[in-house]
Amino acid sequence: MTERPPTDGTGGDPVCWLDRVCPACGRLVEGEPRPDRCPECGEPLPEG
Ligand SMILES: [Zn+2]
Repeated sequence: MTERPPTDGTGGDPVCWLDRVCPACGRLVEGEPRPDRCPECGEPLPEG
């Protein structure tokens, strides 16, 4: 018996922006390279 996971057809990218979300205020921090800190509140971002 072989069970296949359902395909959703999106083929989306892995959630790669989680390390860009400020843990303190939830702001999505953009920029390359990724800033060390949240520009909004100054909270250090977690290392990816
Ligand atoms: Zn923040």
